[in-house]
Amino acid sequence: MNGRVLVLNQNFEPLNVCPIRRAFVLVGDGKAEVVEPGAAVLHTSTRTFDCPSVIRLLYLIKRVHPIAKLTRKELFLRDNYTCQYCGKQPKELTIDHVIPRHCGGPHRWDNLVSACNSCRRRLECSPWKRRPSPTLVAITGCTNTCTGHTIPTGSSSSRMPIG
Ligand SMILES: [Zn+2]
Repeated sequence: MNGRVLVLNQNFEPLNVCPIRRAFVLVGDGKAEVVEPGAAVLHTSTRTFDCPSVIRLLYLIKRVHPIAKLTRKELFLRDNYTCQYCGKQPKELTIDHVIPRHCGGPHRWDNLVSACNSCRRRLECSPWKRRPSPTLVAITGCTNTCTGHTIPTGSSSSRMPIG
């Protein structure tokens, strides 16, 4: 009776993997149902059972999904330490607001991307409207109401404090 069984929540969200013995107990107690039978068969003295490979709980286990804190480290991790404009992985990265803060761009996950220093310098010297869209991150919430602005050179308004 070796093997592992995938346990799904009532809403089919994967929960964990458990031993076959535990899966049999859950199904036998009426706490779970077999979603996908496995290839193995369990023989007892009187009966034969198909070993499940996936079971689903008949009740919902509420899980707390941790919310990632918006920090430089987490942002770089999300972007895989890659500049979202040129796709390079430089030694030094900075954070860029896709919609600049002075144009009303929020300091939120969906407006922040990792950028290398050369892309950031290039973007600071051009109106944000002409910025290329980051290719690796889906940006939402752009109202495109900010036109005709020029970004002051040397602006550091969109830099985040470390940590
Ligand atoms: Zn770049």
